[in-house]
Amino acid sequence: MELSKHKRIRNRKVIQEMRKQICERCGKPSYGEPHHVYTVGSGGGDIRENLIQLCADCHIAAHAGHVGKEELIDIVAEREGVTSDNVVKTNRKAMGYEVEE
Ligand SMILES: [Zn+2]
Ligand SMILES: [Zn+2]
Repeated sequence: MELSKHKRIRNRKVIQEMRKQICERCGKPSYGEPHHVYTVGSGGGDIRENLIQLCADCHIAAHAGHVGKEELIDIVAEREGVTSDNVVKTNRKAMGYEVEE
């Protein structure tokens, strides 16, 4: 079905599983839900490769564009044990884009 291809992946369970007590960028205490590297508004999915726990400061900086998406992707890649390129591809696939293998 053409429509479902571009439907954002929603998964409350994964979001809860990815919650941590510390910021994955700077190590400061963190509360609340993880940040979506590819924003929900742009179709970013609720998948491990798109979620990163950030403290309030890093979270605000990320949304203000002071912390680049590339830096967050690098942190996620190291955590997942894959390359940054891989994280980008997995996210793009989850968002319904064609991805070259
Ligand atoms: Zn932080
Ligand atoms: Zn966020």
